[in-house]
Amino acid sequence: MTDAEVLVVGGGPAGLAAATELAGAGRRVTVLEREAEAGGIPRHCGHYPFAMREFHRLLRGPDYAARLRNAALAAGVTIRTRTTVTALLPGGVVEVTDDNGLANLAAKAVLLATGVRESSRASRLIGGEKPGGVLSTGALQGMVYLNHQRPFQRPVILGTELVAFSALLTCRHAGIKPLAMIEPGQRITARSPAIWLARLMGVPVRLQSDIAAIRGRTHVEGVTLSTPTGAEDLPADGVIVTGGFRPDAALLRGSHLEVDPASGGPVIDRWGCLSDPAYFAAGNLLRGVETAGWCWSEGRRTARAVMAALDGRLPKPGGARVALAHPALRLAVPQILGPEATDAVYGALQIRLSAPANGHLHLTQGGQTLTSARLDSLPERRLSLPLPAVSGATPLTLTIEDHA
Ligand SMILES: Cc1cc2nc3c(=O)[nH]c(=O)nc-3n(C[C@H](O)[C@H](O)[C@H](O)COP(=O)(O)OP(=O)(O)OC[C@H]3O[C@@H](n4cnc5c(N)ncnc54)[C@H](O)[C@@H]3O)c2cc1C
Repeated sequence: MTDAEVLVVGGGPAGLAAATELAGAGRRVTVLEREAEAGGIPRHCGHYPFAMREFHRLLRGPDYAARLRNAALAAGVTIRTRTTVTALLPGGVVEVTDDNGLANLAAKAVLLATGVRESSRASRLIGGEKPGGVLSTGALQGMVYLNHQRPFQRPVILGTELVAFSALLTCRHAGIKPLAMIEPGQRITARSPAIWLARLMGVPVRLQSDIAAIRGRTHVEGVTLSTPTGAEDLPADGVIVTGGFRPDAALLRGSHLEVDPASGGPVIDRWGCLSDPAYFAAGNLLRGVETAGWCWSEGRRTARAVMAALDGRLPKPGGARVALAHPALRLAVPQILGPEATDAVYGALQIRLSAPANGHLHLTQGGQTLTSARLDSLPERRLSLPLPAVSGATPLTLTIEDHA
């Protein structure tokens, strides 16, 4: 007896897209979502741009989330909100908790799409006192867009990856004027046109700087920056700590499923299938933050792999594992590469760096180079390496040949 043919854990863009695709093909699908409403991160992002790839128009996050929900419901998906999955058990059984208490639900396949977590102040090792007014972008957006609060007037933003610019837009929406964006590196992490947003808003970007300490007893009263010319105090009344996104893999860590220490997400093969073939995964859970459209597309493609699995059309699990052999390589997904197949979810290896790198990426097997590509990138940017046919289980090595 199954409670649904497919259970989808997480009702963000990846989960809802997968569920819509599956239900559209006549499958019995239930989405389990812990929040009061499905939609994922976009529900909290009251700014543009969302929906270009999916709906060929420009929408704000909440409107986009509503469209995803409506599409899922119209396709026949059951969405169970206020339902948190608390454990993943072998063979496609999940433990859930809701207003009625604890229960187990069984399905032929389970697709995990639980998204990411943002890093905290503690994990960034910022010194000083521990006053209120230090927020992640997600917490700021929840306060501004969902609760209509203005937690501070003149914060600093730590980080310059794409989500930091989302924090900038949220500040503009709430009438908050950041004093500066702080970036420890020599360039901003997002691609360079993003800096124009800061310039247009009159917010200076302080490169090669970091927050050495936060001052204030009950609320932030100032921050001390370390800069190339020494320490500098800024009269900030808040700090927005952006980025450092990691897969929300709490469920995986307590389960029988294999976790990749490099990505922090599940180990998957080219069909998005985990170490237990009843489980699949898609979206930010795999590697950290991507655009909503990217996760939506990944969810749809993974749904097709789930259907192939239900129909017994997937090749036997297994293949060659990718090992990272350069300190600047932070992660590569998928981690297991089987033979090339036209209906595989992943035609390319998704790669992220932990440090800037300039040279050539090489994927080798048994000393033979299978594919190479030019590389010149900062950390945390989207990189992909088109995948060649891979045969056997001989380990693969991904490395960077540095250019002087
Ligand atoms: C601050 C910010 C701004 C952004 N701005 C943009 C933008 O302007 N444009 C754009 O394209 N992208 C933007 N993104 C990226 C985009 O929002 C995400 O990439 C996208 O939402 C990821 O989709 P997902 O389905 O993988 O995960 P999520 O959207 O994170 O959804 C995961 C869902 O799983 C649920 N969940 C988690 N654990 C459980 C559990 N145990 N049981 C039940 N449910 C669970 C969560 O409640 C959540 O609803 C932004 C991201 C951030 C953080």
